[in-house]
Amino acid sequence: MQQTLKASIHCNGVGLHSGARTTLRLHPADVDCGIRFRRNGATILARHDHVVATRMCTTVGDGNGVSIGTVEHLMAALAGCGIDNAIIEIDGPEVPVMDGSAEPFVFLIDCAGVVSQSAARRYLQVLTTVSIEDGERSISIRPGEGLTIGCNIDFADEAVGKQSISIGVDADSFKSEIMRARTFGFEHEIEALRAAGLARGGSLDNAVVISGGKVLNVEGLRYEDECVRHKVLDTLGDLYLAGGPILGRVDCRRAGHELHLRLVSQLLARPGATRWVTAEEALAMPACPRAEVGRRLSVAAG
Ligand SMILES: [Zn+2]
Repeated sequence: MQQTLKASIHCNGVGLHSGARTTLRLHPADVDCGIRFRRNGATILARHDHVVATRMCTTVGDGNGVSIGTVEHLMAALAGCGIDNAIIEIDGPEVPVMDGSAEPFVFLIDCAGVVSQSAARRYLQVLTTVSIEDGERSISIRPGEGLTIGCNIDFADEAVGKQSISIGVDADSFKSEIMRARTFGFEHEIEALRAAGLARGGSLDNAVVISGGKVLNVEGLRYEDECVRHKVLDTLGDLYLAGGPILGRVDCRRAGHELHLRLVSQLLARPGATRWVTAEEALAMPACPRAEVGRRLSVAAG
């Protein structure tokens, strides 16, 4: 069934790029509402066709000058916690970065509580493979059991280097393997980012900062491969802009927000590449081996 929050809840924080201090309020919403952002009287459905920028973060907008940046970590928390319907009210230009991960948003959702609603959840089931190649970067999605996200990254700094991971995403794996991974950046890029109006709220409190083969944060890393796990978190949040949870297997190589969103748009634009199904329908007409679909869906529902 679809789910929403049991009660409203809020938090305050600074935006990673704008540095603006904002209050974020999460409210329950009706069946089939989806995730909607509200700012300055505008309401913006959190969907791929309302994405207005993908540089360094994912920004949604109403097309009339009202936008909200860095939605991806909050979207990942909503996806990971199985929240289908919510109103997200914000009084500034960017979702607060909190500690750079999705964990503080999951904490908020857990504090508010989650309720089951009166209509069945609809999943976007992938039926055919869609791939995008862009130089050294690529992304693809194909039919698969539940949602699996695989990411590969390759950075010159040896504190990151080459990392790869593949995670079958469900409520448990999201909390244990993904949600605590923080955003990361390189010290030598900070000045240029700030000159471009980015990373102005960034600090060692909300990002892993890397320089000369070392992690500068005194507390160290939360996972040995925290950077690639954060890529999984970003991918999950961006994919949720499809308008619902995806059933498929995604593989990302050096991808980022722009490729994630191009994939979602192409997937939905291609005739016959997907269908919207309830869990029951997915079990009755699997696009992949039946036993696997059943296992993943039962975990996701639990
Ligand atoms: Zn991120």
